[in-house]
Amino acid sequence: MHLNDSDCILQISYIGVNEGIPLTRANFTLLAKKRNNQYYFRSPLLQNTSTWQTKKIGNVTLHYKKDYNKKNANKYFNMVNAFDKKLEFTDKPTEFYCCHNYHEVLQLIGVDYKSDYSSIVKNSLSSAENDQNLVVNGYFTPDFTEFDPHDLWHARLHKVISVSIINKPVDEGTAFINGGSWGLSWEEILSRFKKYAAANPNADWLALYNESTNYDKGAKFPLNVDYTINALIVEKLEKEKGMGAVKELLSCGRRVDGNENYFKALEKTTGITKANFNKKVWEMINSK
Ligand SMILES: [Zn+2]
Repeated sequence: MHLNDSDCILQISYIGVNEGIPLTRANFTLLAKKRNNQYYFRSPLLQNTSTWQTKKIGNVTLHYKKDYNKKNANKYFNMVNAFDKKLEFTDKPTEFYCCHNYHEVLQLIGVDYKSDYSSIVKNSLSSAENDQNLVVNGYFTPDFTEFDPHDLWHARLHKVISVSIINKPVDEGTAFINGGSWGLSWEEILSRFKKYAAANPNADWLALYNESTNYDKGAKFPLNVDYTINALIVEKLEKEKGMGAVKELLSCGRRVDGNENYFKALEKTTGITKANFNKKVWEMINSK
C-alpha cells in the first residue's frame, strides 16, 4: 500500500485460515485520494464505467456498456412505476448499472475476488445513501429478460414495509395478485385453488391456513393455502378500503405459530374472525 497526495490505487487482500492453512478470502481494489490531510476511499466503479453510455428513464439513470433491450427495460421500469404508485411510494433517484453477470458487477466495483461469491453467476448489489440509490445489477443482463414480477413486487413492497414487521403469508398474497407465482398468473393460481376447493367441499380453511398447506402437490412449485387466501382477502380489502388497510394487515408482524397477531389485524381490518373464517373464505371463493 502506498499513499501520496494524488489519486492512488490500493489493492487489499484478506486472508482467512481453514484447518490451519492460510487461504485468500478476498482481493479488493480501492481508489484513495488525499484531501486536507485526510484520505478518502472509494470504489473504482466510476472509472471502470467512464466509457459507458447513459439513458434517463424517469428518475433512473441507466448505465450500459453498448446496448440494452429497450422494450424489455421499459417493461421493467414501467412495472416498477406501477408498483410504486400502488404502494404510494416515491423512490430516490437511482443510478442503475446494467451488467452481463455477477462477475462483471464485482469487477466494476473493485471486488477482484471473494471466495463467498465464487459460484454465483447472477446477482445484484445495491445501496441507498445520500438521497440516492445505487444498483449494480448482474441479474437482468442488458436484455432485461430475467426479472420476475413476483420478486419485483416483494422488492418494492419491502422498501415501504420493513421485513422485520411484515407478515409473510400476506406479503406472498399481495405478490400473487401483482406478480403471480413461479410464472403462473394470479388467474391461473386462482383456477387451481378453485379446483382444490371444489374437490374438498369439507375443507377446514382455518386448519389448512395455519398449516400453510400446499394444495398443488403435482406442480413443480408449491402453492400455499395461506398465501392464496390472503390474495383473496387483500384483493377485496384493497377494493373496499384501499391500500392503507392492506398495509395495516401486511404490518401485523412476522408469522407465528397459530397466527394470533395476524387474526387480530385481520379482524380489525376486515371483520373476519377465526370463528367465521371458514364461512368467509367460502364466500370469497364462490364470488370468483
Ligand atoms: Zn414470494
